[in-house]
Amino acid sequence: MTEEKRAFQAEVAKLLDIVVHSLYSNREIFLRELVSNASDACDRLRYAALTQPELTAGDPDFRIRLIPDADKGVLTIADNGIGMNREDMIANLGTIARSGTAEFVRQLGEDAKRDVSVIGQFGVGFYSAFMAADAVTVVSRKAGEDTGWKWESQGDGEFTVSEAADAARGAAITLRLREDAKDFLDPATLRRIVKRYSDHIAIPVVLVEDGKDETLNSANALWTRSKTDITPEQYKEFYHHAAHAFDEPWLTIHYKAEGAIEYTGLLFIPSQKPIDIFHPDRKQHVKLYVNRVFITDQVEDLLPPYLRFLRGVVDSQDLPLNISRELLQHNPMLAKIKTGLVKRVLSELKRKSDEEGGDYEAFWETFGAVLKEGLYEDFERREEILGLCRFHTTAGEGWTTLEQVLGRMKEGQDAFYYIAGDDIAALKKSPQLEGFLAKGVEVLLLTDPVDEFWVTAIGSHKDKPFRAVTEGGVDLSKIAGGEAKEAEEPAAPADEVDSLIAAVKLALGEAVRDVRTSERLTGSAVCLVSEDGQMSVHLERMLRAHRQLEREFPRILELNPRHPLIKALAARVKSGGTGAEIEDVAHLLLDQARIVEGEPPADPTAFARRMAAVMTRGLGV
Ligand code: ADP
Ligand code: MG
Repeated sequence: MTEEKRAFQAEVAKLLDIVVHSLYSNREIFLRELVSNASDACDRLRYAALTQPELTAGDPDFRIRLIPDADKGVLTIADNGIGMNREDMIANLGTIARSGTAEFVRQLGEDAKRDVSVIGQFGVGFYSAFMAADAVTVVSRKAGEDTGWKWESQGDGEFTVSEAADAARGAAITLRLREDAKDFLDPATLRRIVKRYSDHIAIPVVLVEDGKDETLNSANALWTRSKTDITPEQYKEFYHHAAHAFDEPWLTIHYKAEGAIEYTGLLFIPSQKPIDIFHPDRKQHVKLYVNRVFITDQVEDLLPPYLRFLRGVVDSQDLPLNISRELLQHNPMLAKIKTGLVKRVLSELKRKSDEEGGDYEAFWETFGAVLKEGLYEDFERREEILGLCRFHTTAGEGWTTLEQVLGRMKEGQDAFYYIAGDDIAALKKSPQLEGFLAKGVEVLLLTDPVDEFWVTAIGSHKDKPFRAVTEGGVDLSKIAGGEAKEAEEPAAPADEVDSLIAAVKLALGEAVRDVRTSERLTGSAVCLVSEDGQMSVHLERMLRAHRQLEREFPRILELNPRHPLIKALAARVKSGGTGAEIEDVAHLLLDQARIVEGEPPADPTAFARRMAAVMTRGLGV
């Protein structure tokens, strides 16, 4: 059969261009990546052979062989795993499948800093072969199939696929080493690299030299070893392998559960946010093993979505080996393991959060928004999760706990007050906060998209309801403090304000739900608030952005009767001194309140026209 020439997916071509033209301080990691792929391939075949033993017939012992050939200047990494057929090669070695990764490469500008740490995040280990090689050949035969295939590329935008005679089961990756990479033919170098990065691989990694075999790694599953026998470096390398990640684990949890159900967990919390953490599928990533046989990294019910930042493995002998992944999903044992894992992880987080001088806040800043999903998804553990939450508030710069906020409540304060929006700086300037700041009442500043969902779902904590400062019914008068306010500017007379309100209502019609005076404003003239129970302007905007809401709902416009503008207007209206211009003024007040909320004026053209008219009158032209 003839050779078939194909172009790489654009993102792969770009990635390869970066890889080929980079300067590497530690390009030896290509070997870790290829050994890791070989190990995955063996794991997958071992699982498939549980139900189809004929797949491994004739060659049942898994191994990964490193074969340097100094004369030819080539290094081969060969495994007897699942292998790839023609379609697999085209799909796996020509495109980037993982969600998020392709997008990430796309975003990487032409002149991005080209260092390995950036590429490391891609999770596209195979292509790292081109760091050391100027040509790569993959010869493979898929388990259970007769025909072998050969994939070849020089990393220059194209690859070829053709039939290969006499291919053994599994895959053999042959690298034609670059002139300056010949060191990777040296057995001492190979020994050192395998020991360093791949010791935890559970399958023997064998150096083949002059026809002699030498196993280079410990070749037992790392999690089965005792904690005291594992160095931090080994944990880290295992994390890199299991998570396809390259950062330092923020936390490593390794334990054996004994009792009603036995399992071993080796779990990691990354220090960097995985690029797809907010992907809508919200999949968990911990791999499930049954008695050291890899089963799947797709069991959704192993961990709840709000712990999807966890990486690592769970291994249990108490699960049946020979049932399908689908049936496993509903296994009652699995539910027990899940309960145990959640309990353990939350208590480890609690321990970290209580630690003096700990770096819990680093975790919170990275994954807090994910953990908070548990507040409305895991009813039973709500209190526990709430205790792990950290907040920004109007009381200071750093993070604080809900308990601390509770302790600082003012006399007569019977609620947790919050305001939700896109960023802290903008929130701090919200007019609705003015009255709270004047009274020294602490307000939670919530900026994660999940925040408004959990506050609504939880409702209250320690008998104190959560209330948005943007809610119409919030009453500040019962709270002690705020003497400053009495000394302020007196309010406009009530009858004048009533006339103004009536006139504004008439002018705005359906555009507002109501017009009222405000007790929550000090410096600003107007603000928008919601009816109690109505969703906030911020939440409504988020839902509209996600097309879950079609239209806007009218709000309550509050007027500050102490503000000079409102006072002057009120006096003018009362004395009948306004004509048609009250119409312009009313709309401008509403638009002003909208702009402060981060909303555009309802009708920008009309806004500009009115603004010009009012300014013209103001200039007395
Ligand atoms: P990842 O390992 O993160 O999936 P890689 O770029 O390392 O990404 O590998 C891409 C894919 O190529 C793998 O997911 C696998 O399907 C396939 N592959 C790579 N090496 C082998 C191998 N030795 N045997 C079988 N399949 C392989
Ligand atoms: Mg890989």
